[in-house]
This record gives sequence, structure tokens and C-alpha cells, in this order.
Amino acid sequence: MGKLVKCQVCGLIMEEDKLHDFCPKCNAPKEKFDVLADEAAEKVFRSEYTNDLHMRLINYCNKIEALAEAGIDDNLDPACVKLFKKAKEEAILIKQISKAELAGHMNKGKW
Ligand SMILES: [Zn+2]
Repeated sequence: MGKLVKCQVCGLIMEEDKLHDFCPKCNAPKEKFDVLADEAAEKVFRSEYTNDLHMRLINYCNKIEALAEAGIDDNLDPACVKLFKKAKEEAILIKQISKAELAGHMNKGKW
């Protein structure tokens, strides 16, 4: 695997061979980038797929939330509205748990 580098100004992590003269996020000069140690780089590579799954889960939760709101607005009968309200609550909760997990990953360098 290629070397990863991290911008010490904004925290952007990218592949060394894709870095040109400036940070693509904050424009800091490339001298502001440090090469990540193998152990740190391994955490980033290892967690990439899992982080992607979390982001996809959050995206699905947003869709469930929108669907549930449509069902609540539709208001066919109390049982339906109850189910859609529960679906909305659960989707919001799972989304928040997933976000907390991602935040934990970032704090542990798994990003
Ligand atoms: Zn930067």
C-alpha cells in the first residue's frame, strides 16, 4: 500500500503520490504534511470500509426518516401513524449511534 500523508493544518489524510504543491483542502504548502507511520496508516486503511458502511447506514436512516414522515402525513389510521412514528424514532437513534461511532473512529485515528 502507498504511504499516507496528513496535513498538520487541517487534518486531511491522503495518498502521498496524489499530493501536489498544496493541500487540496486548506491550501497549506506540502511541507506541512507528515507521512503517517505504518501503524497509523493501517488504522486508516482498515477502517475505510467500515466507515463507508456507517455512512451508507446513515444515508438509509435518512431515507427511512423521510419515508416515515410521508407515512405520518398520510395519516391513514392510528396503527399506521404509530408504526411510522416508531420507524422515524428508530432511524434517528440508529443514525445518531452511527455518527457517534464515526466520531470515535476519528478520535482514534481510524479515519
Ligand atoms: Zn490542509
